[in-house]
This record gives sequence, C-alpha cells and structure tokens, in this order.
Amino acid sequence: MQLIDGKALANTIKEEIAVETAALKKAGGKTPHLAAVLIGDDPASAVYVRNKVKACEKVGFKSTLVRRGADTSEAEVLAIVKQLNEDPDIDGFIVQLPLPKHINEEKVNLAIDPKKDVDGFHPMNVGRMTLGLPSYLPATPFGIMQMLDRYEIETSGKHCVVIGRSNIVGTPMSILLSRKAKVGNCTVTLTHSRTKDLKAETLRADIIIAAIGRPDYLTADMVKEGVVVIDVGINRVDDASRKRGYRLVGDADFDGIAAKSSFITPVPGGVGPMTITSLLMNTLKASKKEIYG
Ligand code: NAD
Repeated sequence: MQLIDGKALANTIKEEIAVETAALKKAGGKTPHLAAVLIGDDPASAVYVRNKVKACEKVGFKSTLVRRGADTSEAEVLAIVKQLNEDPDIDGFIVQLPLPKHINEEKVNLAIDPKKDVDGFHPMNVGRMTLGLPSYLPATPFGIMQMLDRYEIETSGKHCVVIGRSNIVGTPMSILLSRKAKVGNCTVTLTHSRTKDLKAETLRADIIIAAIGRPDYLTADMVKEGVVVIDVGINRVDDASRKRGYRLVGDADFDGIAAKSSFITPVPGGVGPMTITSLLMNTLKASKKEIYG
C-alpha cells in the first residue's frame, strides 16, 4: 500500500507556483490577483476564505477579500460581482458558498464572468470541461486529477467507480475520468443514493472515488485487492479523547481498507489540502490568460 500524501503534494505544487510567480514578476509580468467574496458570518466559510487568502500571500499572489454582512441584498452581491468582473487587476474571483438563504446562488454564479470563474462552477466552464475544451476545473476534482497524475497511477482502461453525484465532486469526477486524456480513459460507473447494489459495483472497481459524506461507509469487504481509493469525505465523529471533542474521518474505513489497496488517501491530509492548490493553479492560469486567451 502506498499512501497518497495530499499535504506534501500540495506543498510541492505551491512551491512550484511560487517559483513561477516570482519569475513572472521578475520578467515584468503581472502579479496574479485573486479576490474572494464572503457574505455573512458562517464560521466555517470564514476559515475557508482566510486559508485561501493566506495561500495566495504564500505563493506571491495579490489577494482581495470583499466581506459583507448577512443582511447584504442579492442586488448588492450582484453589484460586487459586476465590479470584480470589470476590474482589470483582478484575474479571478470566488464567491464563497453557501450564501445567505435570501440570495439566489445560481443567479450569482451566472453573473460571474467565465473568464474569471476560478472555482469552475459557471455553466460555461462546466460545459467546456464536458466537451474536453480548456476550462477552469472545479477545485476538488482538479486536485484529485493532480494526485493521480503526480503519483503516476494508471487510469487508462481501468474501471472507476465514483460514489456520489454532486455538482462539485462526483459528477465532474466522472466526466474527467472518462475523457480522452493523459489522466482519463477510464470506464466510469457513477453511483449514488439510488444505486441498488453499491457493493457489487465497488467490488469491480480498480479505482474508487468516495464522495458521499458518511463516515467509514466504504468498508474492506466492498473492495478488491489492489484497489486505488481516493477518499473525498470529511466527516466529524465524536471523540472525547480529543480536545475539540471530535475527529475527522473520511467516507472510507481507512484502517480496514489500507492493507488491500495499492494507493489510498488519508483523511485528513489527503484530498483536502489539494483543494486550495487547485484554486491557486486556476488563478495562475487566469493571470496568464491560458484558458480564454
Ligand atoms: P453531497 O451531499 O452534495 O453529495 C453526496 C452524494 O452522495 C449524493 O450525490 C448522494 O446521491 C450520494 N450518496 C448518499 N448516500 C449514498 C449511499 N448510501 N450510497 C451511494 N451514494 C450515496 O456531498 P459533496 O458535496 O459531494 O461532498 C461529499 C463529501 O465530500 C462530504 O463529506 C464533504 O464534506 C466532502 N468534501 C470534501 C472536499 C475536500 O476538499 N476534501 C470537498 C468537497 C466535499
């Protein structure tokens, strides 16, 4: 079994981005600039945004945080989006989700200029991804693709079972892995809550991407010898021995499955750390006008 160390890989990629950014600046180029919009006072969202801004500083990007209260109107959010779309210094921006309930997330998403949509959630980027055209890939799937690439895990001709069909993880993963590309060419089965016999599907899998949101749901009896397991789940389980009263576990029973697997990601320290790295990679692409010219 080989552990896929997402934390170490994320640090390596961040160093590469920092080196490239320094070279760009030295050559008189533009400093990549990411903006983040945070509406309301959801503590988890505040932590995510703070980490994104910190990561920008670490690699030499400029960052701007636009923070407004929970009572901000939809029209005000749309005005912020318009302003960021039009600001020539901002290469890309994200609107942290979830937004307060009175704001229509779809409307906000559609208002973002696809050229600056470094979260890759705009239908233009989703459509381009589906067609195999250059696009900003959504952060978590992009991070997983990087892991498979850098660990040189063979995907061509393999049977991949994706568990979960969300728009941010499962569905884009199924599309990316079935594309004709260096990391791709898989035969993909996309499973979800209505799948009749999940175990029958996972037992046939060479690669499993678990994005369900249920602690230790995928167990050793559900996988075959030599399987590659990418565990996207982040679940809190009570743990009185921890100071904070809980610990984080994935969707796969790591201890049970590890010995049977050829590669496996831990939780924490697996897919999670790669997510911010993806955002930085997309921002660098935006700054270099790599996707839309
Ligand atoms: P979601 O709740 O939007 O989707 C869950 C999916 O699981 C659904 O499509 C559902 O059909 C499927 N599902 C539910 N029960 C099932 C069952 N019994 N059998 C088969 N499929 C079942 O979740 P999401 O946003 O895709 O996130 C999934 C997990 O990944 C969560 O734990 C989330 O916290 C985590 N996550 C982690 C990262 C990261 O950076 N590591 C990023 C995004 C999400």
